[in-house]
Amino acid sequence: MSKSTPETKFDIPPELRGQVSITTLDRIYNWGRRSSVWPMMFGLACCAIEMICTAASRYDLARFGMEVMRPSPRQSDLMIVSGTVTKKMIPQIVRLYNQMPEPKYVLAMGACASGGGPFKEGYNVVSGVDKFIPVDVYVPGCPPTPQALLHGLISLQKKIDAQSIKTVRWYDKNVESDEIPIPVLGPDLMDPREYDRIRQYTQEKLQKQQAAAEAAASENGGPND
Ligand code: SF4
Repeated sequence: MSKSTPETKFDIPPELRGQVSITTLDRIYNWGRRSSVWPMMFGLACCAIEMICTAASRYDLARFGMEVMRPSPRQSDLMIVSGTVTKKMIPQIVRLYNQMPEPKYVLAMGACASGGGPFKEGYNVVSGVDKFIPVDVYVPGCPPTPQALLHGLISLQKKIDAQSIKTVRWYDKNVESDEIPIPVLGPDLMDPREYDRIRQYTQEKLQKQQAAAEAAASENGGPND
């Protein structure tokens, strides 16, 4: 017996040919999402100018259904981190990310957002936004051209195409919340996820100082009464 082909399995009557399409739920679901990715309207530095150019008529983001840049994170699907991420700004970026509803994506635009860029060693700059929020697509360049950003957006569409409604995290009942603790800006930036490590480091340092002070006191003849 010959193996049955899709044609023999789904034989379409002649009167319906050209009027019926067969596809998968994933494909329709992803087609809807990939064709209406609304970026959040915010920029951080020079890269933002290139992002604005990408939305202008020459490059025409409307071709991808992405021209509706939303001024609210609650109506946005995509965060384009375009520019230098400073320690002062990262608490606000994480807060905005938390306020975006699922499904949500992040695109790191340019060398600064991807890894600190020319300011990597700066006292006030975070060496990559992916230290705090998950990044889906990186676009290299300083600044990336509008064409490069478009390529990044098309890469994001390909990523969306590969997702399945059965495995995406926003329908997974076992995933409780992916809210990210907001970093605290004090004398330096502190990530609440690192508190245990910071506490351990501080305690070890204090113990070492205490031991050194006791050793110095015993060398000098013990503590004065
Ligand atoms: S990557 Fe270059 S162009 Fe973009 S924000 Fe940094 S310094 Fe400016």
